[in-house]
Amino acid sequence: MSAAHFDIAVIGTGVNGAGIARDAAGRGLKTLIVDQGDIAAATSQWSTKLIHGGLRYLEYYEFRLVRESLAEREVLLRQAPHIVEPLSFVLPHEPHLRPAWMLRAGLFLYDHLGKRETLHASFAVDLQRSRWGAGLKPQFRKGFVYADARVDDARLVVLTAMDARAHGADVRTRTALASARRERSAEGPFWRISLRDAAGDEVAVTATTLVNATGPWVKVVRDALNGAPSVENVRHVKGSHIVVPRVHDGEHAYILQNADKRIVFVIPYAGRYSLIGTTDVPVVEFEKPEITPDEVDYLLRLANTYLAKPLGRADVKWTFSGIRPLYDDGKSDPSAITRDYTFKLDAPDGGAAVLSVYGGKLTTYRKLAEHALDALAPHLPSMKPRWTEPAVLPGGDLPPGGRAAWPDEVVKRYPKLPVETVRGIARRHGTRALGILGDAKTPADLGEDFGQGLTAREVDALVRDEWALTGEDVLWRRTKCGLGMIDAARARVDAYVAKCTSALAATA
Ligand SMILES: Cc1cc2nc3c(=O)[nH]c(=O)nc-3n(C[C@H](O)[C@H](O)[C@H](O)COP(=O)(O)OP(=O)(O)OC[C@H]3O[C@@H](n4cnc5c(N)ncnc54)[C@H](O)[C@@H]3O)c2cc1C
Repeated sequence: MSAAHFDIAVIGTGVNGAGIARDAAGRGLKTLIVDQGDIAAATSQWSTKLIHGGLRYLEYYEFRLVRESLAEREVLLRQAPHIVEPLSFVLPHEPHLRPAWMLRAGLFLYDHLGKRETLHASFAVDLQRSRWGAGLKPQFRKGFVYADARVDDARLVVLTAMDARAHGADVRTRTALASARRERSAEGPFWRISLRDAAGDEVAVTATTLVNATGPWVKVVRDALNGAPSVENVRHVKGSHIVVPRVHDGEHAYILQNADKRIVFVIPYAGRYSLIGTTDVPVVEFEKPEITPDEVDYLLRLANTYLAKPLGRADVKWTFSGIRPLYDDGKSDPSAITRDYTFKLDAPDGGAAVLSVYGGKLTTYRKLAEHALDALAPHLPSMKPRWTEPAVLPGGDLPPGGRAAWPDEVVKRYPKLPVETVRGIARRHGTRALGILGDAKTPADLGEDFGQGLTAREVDALVRDEWALTGEDVLWRRTKCGLGMIDAARARVDAYVAKCTSALAATA
């Protein structure tokens, strides 16, 4: 076999592929992970950004998924406290939609089904006489509060890929799977793989096993690898969000019930904004999802049913849409299709194995990775035992006081630097913030200031350590500084990143 041989080659650096690569590398497997785009280039950056048990999945009897998700909230709060934080949700009671006994029963299950160590239990509230009803119409009197968590989704994937690299994985972005075919040597079956890099050049590697973690592309890639169409299908269900100026005071989120039985979240976002979503629209075209005017109106209409100050189209500052790559379990209602993940392992006639991943949540990605490697274990006998549960992601080793205290702790260490810039770096990078700020003493030491808390010094680190190659990678995935930035500032970021990447290429 050629020198570039891997035990496992993972196609797709969304949350699931990155999680599998991290776990595999830490188990001593020689690991390759590639993505045709940037890290978190597809579904994993367009989520509702929740680490949640999925209260509404209880109505669809998804107990396995909810139990696993509830337990994973605590694991992720511990592994990445800089980018995962607890969030309380207020559910206004609407007796004609779901009776109070049903909500109480659901929340009781939610409190007790999975491990809950740090998050608070649910409780009932008077919305009119407490802060929990901020921003709502006065007619909403009674509500329930429960706890989940939120995450910076794209950064979760980036940090997971960084940890994979720290454990020895070879991470290649802008590198697509061009083709792969099964072969056999004296040592056993293997894959001969052709990758296409950003320059269009084909690179050959071999691997004992393949993981198809291509999200919405899972069926296309699986069928190409097996040279035959699979029976299993993937349902592409679009979910869209709108971002509006902040609609209520307070740090809690709302979970709003609609007459169609769906729910929509209203979540404080990026300081000054509220994130409202999502929709559930089955689609055929899934490559470049975009919100439609109907979806905008649906979200505005539902929000306005509850909010005291009505929102209009002009309030929508940003929108984004993602595709749920759901395993087709034959349900016609897009909201009822299982949100759980499913694996399909193909190794026909004892040939090389490929594991295809259908579905999955950000919340369950670590457990999904463990289960994926269990499924591949017979093909990878040298694999070491599980290790990720007690581990932390890069920058997550915060001192006592955790996320609440860390940004101010960093501000104290850098008293002459702009407070909001330092806080932003501390939140995004956790303890790695100290390495980025380094010996900076004055604002000038941070280099060009692009606004929204982004400076040249942080961009340097994103290009050097986090595979950022374009302004978009920096503004919308490694950070969300693009939100609220004027076009001219974005153009300056584009130009600066281009300068950094060519300087890096010259030294490579
Ligand atoms: C609207 C919406 C809201 C959601 N909200 C939440 C939430 O709040 N909480 C939660 O836990 N989950 C949520 N989810 C679910 C979660 O986001 C997804 O399940 C998860 O991100 C899927 O990750 P993935 O790695 O499987 O796929 P993706 O993130 O789509 O990654 C697949 C990758 O494969 C790459 N790829 C494809 N083909 C090739 C090829 N030939 N060569 C190389 N690379 C290739 C793509 O570029 C892509 O980067 C939400 C999903 C949606 C759509």
